Amino acid sequence: MSIALKLEGKAWSNFQDTELAPLTKKFYSRWLGLFMEHCEVDMPDKLLELGTVHEIEDRIIQWLGTLKEAGKATATMKGALASVVFFYSCNRVKIDSRYVGRRIPRKPTLPHRSPTKEEVAAIVEAANMRGKALAGLFASSGVRVGAVPHLKIRHRRKVTPDEMEHKDCSCKDRSQPLRFNGYLLNVYEGDPEQYFTFVSEEAGRWLDTYHNLRKNAGEVLGPNSPLFREEFDMEKPAIVAEPSQCTEGMIKTFMSRAAITAGVKPIVRINGDAKPGAHRHEWKNIHGYRMFFSTAATNAGVNFSFKELMLGHHLNLEKSYYDSNNPRSVHAALAEYLKMQDAVTLFTNSLLERDNKVLREQVTEIQDLRDDNLKLNRIVAEQAKQLQAISRRLDK
Ligand SMILES: [Zn+2]
Repeated sequence: MSIALKLEGKAWSNFQDTELAPLTKKFYSRWLGLFMEHCEVDMPDKLLELGTVHEIEDRIIQWLGTLKEAGKATATMKGALASVVFFYSCNRVKIDSRYVGRRIPRKPTLPHRSPTKEEVAAIVEAANMRGKALAGLFASSGVRVGAVPHLKIRHRRKVTPDEMEHKDCSCKDRSQPLRFNGYLLNVYEGDPEQYFTFVSEEAGRWLDTYHNLRKNAGEVLGPNSPLFREEFDMEKPAIVAEPSQCTEGMIKTFMSRAAITAGVKPIVRINGDAKPGAHRHEWKNIHGYRMFFSTAATNAGVNFSFKELMLGHHLNLEKSYYDSNNPRSVHAALAEYLKMQDAVTLFTNSLLERDNKVLREQVTEIQDLRDDNLKLNRIVAEQAKQLQAISRRLDK
């Protein structure tokens, strides 16, 4: 039952003109296409002509039933429902999603967890330079896989000394400017959804090495070169010179293979008995890195709004002044990022560094105490002298 879908018309443009993250839009569109196939209509406009609102709701319930039979997970069906409900809301049809949602069968799903630092580190250890740079980028910036193919060299830059300077900020320690040698990463540049995040110093070094490798192979890297190009054969100069953009699918496959090679994840083969969708990974291939980032941020006490902004989540109000061209926004965001950098750093012995810092602080405290002690001694000596003088005067 395959229908040639014509994704056009008024209902479709009402849906496409809405403000949604590009990836969300893609996700919703895919489900909408599947719903159209289910209803055997070739144009989105016709989804509005299925009958009364109640009749439309019945069609959705029926569709969710077929997804259930296909072994889809509850979360998947919720996504499917949300997509269709959103399409109708863009076209002024209010679907009672609570009523329809109650028709989604409850099924215990395995909770997803984020990968541990050891697991991410194992992947980096086993990966080639490109894999190290990719895993480092995902773990330390929280970027979505869908954004990576569009990233260019110019989308990452160093933080400027001016941005590191404390001015009208609320940093606790202002004894010296912020220090950061990683990268600022502009995601979805030129898109209404654009935002920025950071790449840790460690991952930044892997990124630099990966770029040097490409240069050494003979590629001319410019501001518009892809941040990550396709995997290529260094022996073929013609291919080396012409980098091609990699697709989201290529990166997903690459990262999945990296996890299997590192012995962190099992190979999953769909065999005859397994229903599609029945096998759940313990942690999701790339989304797991986003969870890793988010968990690290929360545990390190990163301000909630900044965490959301660094994940590229839409926060209507803050977004307007959260801009990488504003040095004060960069400063505030970096101050928050520095709280979590250790947590997303895989190999540097950051614990040792922190211990050193504590020791240095203790030494300063001891010095302060000694100074105070000296001062006190001086005062006591002074008073003793005065007392002696008084007793001498009394003796006379
Ligand atoms: Zn500051």
